[in-house]
Amino acid sequence: MTNPVLVAKAYVFAAERHTRQRRKGVNEEPYMNHLVEVAALVAEATEGKDPNLTAAAVLHDTIEDTPTSHAELEQAFNRDVADLVADVTDDKSLAKADRKALQVSNAPKKSSRAKIIKIADKTSNLRSLLNSPPGDWSDARRSEYLAWARQVVAGARGVNAWLEDTFDASARELETALEGTSAQAT
Ligand code: NDP
Ligand code: ZN
Repeated sequence: MTNPVLVAKAYVFAAERHTRQRRKGVNEEPYMNHLVEVAALVAEATEGKDPNLTAAAVLHDTIEDTPTSHAELEQAFNRDVADLVADVTDDKSLAKADRKALQVSNAPKKSSRAKIIKIADKTSNLRSLLNSPPGDWSDARRSEYLAWARQVVAGARGVNAWLEDTFDASARELETALEGTSAQAT
């Protein structure tokens, strides 16, 4: 497969797998919006030079959130893409709190390329919490998520200055918005 074909096929595969899923935000965006955003961040961060990583960014939630296996991704794409997706997949048999703690403690142990997907994923999620937060999330819960995302990214730094700056900008923007709402509340 040529590089553009590989990435295009990743979009088709992800769109099929996530067809019925929506984001949790008030705008109920198609799940695909998040995958497109994460992939664009990864592609730009790597200046289009790592198509396997961009494909893995598109596919990063397939194993975690759809009935997709490593073997299937390896067959449809290649071993590198499948390994990257597996490397950013949480163990769903664990309790939510344990999974969140593990993301923080495991981030520094990930490969540089897996770290790039992680930072892009957290950047997209912080932007969602700014632009289309889940309707039932309090400001306190959004702040909690922001602090946790910063902890995960702290352990993944040193891989891509542009992406890390982009994450920091999104984190600051959300922080400022949350400070604004807490100031209004007082
Ligand atoms: P969730 O894991 O339930 O939701 C966050 C995840 O949802 C993101 O990582 C993202 O994952 C996905 N997502 C989908 N749509 C959006 C969106 N619009 N904006 C942001 N993320 C979106 O929540 P938490 O991470 O908060 O995990 C639950 C924890 O929250 C528990 O540990 C509990 O302690 C705590 N909690 C806190 C409360 C509070 O009020 N402070 C209340 C209840 C629970 P992906 O990239 O995989 O799509
Ligand atoms: Zn994600």
